[in-house]
Amino acid sequence: MEHSQRARCIHCRADVVVPDSYAQGDHIKCGSCGTKHKIVRGEVLRLVIADATPLRDALQANRTMVERLEADARKARGSFGLGINGLGLALIYVLWQVGQKDRLVSVDLALEALGVAIASGIFLEVANYLFLAKRQKLSRLADEIADAKKESRLLEQKIREAGKV
Ligand SMILES: [Zn+2]
Repeated sequence: MEHSQRARCIHCRADVVVPDSYAQGDHIKCGSCGTKHKIVRGEVLRLVIADATPLRDALQANRTMVERLEADARKARGSFGLGINGLGLALIYVLWQVGQKDRLVSVDLALEALGVAIASGIFLEVANYLFLAKRQKLSRLADEIADAKKESRLLEQKIREAGKV
């Protein structure tokens, strides 16, 4: 009976049985997912992807995604300024209201002050909410970018390994 070793499929991580008659660089298919591999007989038996074209395509798609995410992140960061402008406007509004108060009788003054408090309070709440939403969006984008870059590095590594055999 022919001896064999087992190696992991690069694609689905299933065990692939590699008979000893298969030499370095021979092609073998994964029984689970059908991915074609080349055999690397180093210190340990390894499999690398036989046809790197789908990996290159995936890498290209991945890089495009990273670019798109980074553009989204730049846009999200750029719009941070709006919140600050909003706060500036709220301050100007309050100062303007305070300036008006001197000319008003006391009941009107109280109503005005109440109106300012409510209006600016709501405004600040909304600005704060938008600021938080943006920060969350930025942190989510940063996570997605990190994941996509990691995926790119893994693909690059697989392509490099496939090229060596
Ligand atoms: Zn497989």
